[in-house]
Amino acid sequence: MTTAAAAGATSHGSPDLGARAAALDAGSLAGRTRERFDLPAGVTYLDGNSLGALPRAVPAAVADVVARQWGRDLIASWNVNGWWEAPLRVGDAVGALVGAAPGQVAVTDSTSVNLFKCYVAAARLRPGRRVVVTDPDSFPTDLHVLQGAARLAELEVVQVRVPQVPQVLAERGAEVALVAVSELDYRTGERWDLPALTRAAHDAGALVLWDLCHSAGALDVALDAGGADLAVGCGYKYLNGGPGAPAFCYVAQRHQAAFDSPLTGWQGSATPFAMVGEHTPVEGIGRVRVGTPPLLSMLAMEAALTAFDGVSPAQLRAAALSVTGFFLECVESLLPEVEIATPAEDSRRGAQVSLRHPQAYAVVQALIARGVVGDFREPDIVRLGFAPLYVTHADALRAAQQLRGVLDAGEQHEPRFAVRGTVT
Ligand SMILES: *Cc1c(COP(=O)(O)O)cnc(C)c1O
Repeated sequence: MTTAAAAGATSHGSPDLGARAAALDAGSLAGRTRERFDLPAGVTYLDGNSLGALPRAVPAAVADVVARQWGRDLIASWNVNGWWEAPLRVGDAVGALVGAAPGQVAVTDSTSVNLFKCYVAAARLRPGRRVVVTDPDSFPTDLHVLQGAARLAELEVVQVRVPQVPQVLAERGAEVALVAVSELDYRTGERWDLPALTRAAHDAGALVLWDLCHSAGALDVALDAGGADLAVGCGYKYLNGGPGAPAFCYVAQRHQAAFDSPLTGWQGSATPFAMVGEHTPVEGIGRVRVGTPPLLSMLAMEAALTAFDGVSPAQLRAAALSVTGFFLECVESLLPEVEIATPAEDSRRGAQVSLRHPQAYAVVQALIARGVVGDFREPDIVRLGFAPLYVTHADALRAAQQLRGVLDAGEQHEPRFAVRGTVT
């Protein structure tokens, strides 16, 4: 352990780092936008990649939806309050954050359900090709849903880590219907090259489905410019849509006419009010809709997205890289013995930094007790999310200092931090 250099700095932090944090925060994005969030005092919240913080615009908007729209306008709200159009209207707001021109994103259902639609629809867009290539380290639901979809559509699932995908394409490209991967690895925070992998898949005649759960709202996602075909992502992580917020689904304009969803519901039909039994999908992205959306959540999310007003995806990325880059500096300086799981290069990093520790679960619990909220991921990951709208450089320094405090005191060995809850 080479903690000697850090020893003099443990409790109050290195004066250099403190001054640098202040200087970096003076002109930072979060310095300007943090006020848009209602964060509890004394808490450094580094779990916005699991449940985004509460934007201040949300409570009043939800109160209005409940009291006025539901309470007074009742059923007329579908028309007078824009309820019917909400999935595509909120979809366009999300689209602006993920590099999608209007008319290509719908906010609907959950990420899991949207994955199912996209897996099956992608196979139908590439008839004769039966292979789906995915990453075995994907978030579990991505794999679980793919297993169900593959059984139904009689697809073969090939699992390789993302860097090996081009090799599979070289060997079996003519059989591959779809490459389905996350832009950001939810464990390590590694960012994959969306345009490059999309190009490689297209060269083989395959499509790509991007899971943007850990990049939407945190990075400069470039769906249109990167040539993406299909994408899904969560509403409740960096988009701050609230617990259980609906997810989003992107279908590139050029695929919409042939996008044949396996979940054909009345709200995705061309004539929802004709009350006919035959399903004809509506033109455009609306065909990914299924049934009645959860409007309280949908409209909470619409209000939440105003926290991004005046912020470009490029600014999000610059802010995320600045704060995570500074945190990496703090770790190297204050926690030299700790292994960093996230790549250091800017091009391979997002708004997340993951550290490895043999007692990662207890370390996370001890950090939470000290007011630094991150989360644990199997098997040994301390996962910290630096939501660019509200996490400051000062927060990053505080997290590193508190982790130093945990390890110096050996708090990860305290039995009270070893007891696992149901949600970690
Ligand atoms: C959070 C997350 C999900 C969650 O899916 P739900 O349907 O909302 O439960 C899916 N995939 C990835 C990559 C995630 O990070």
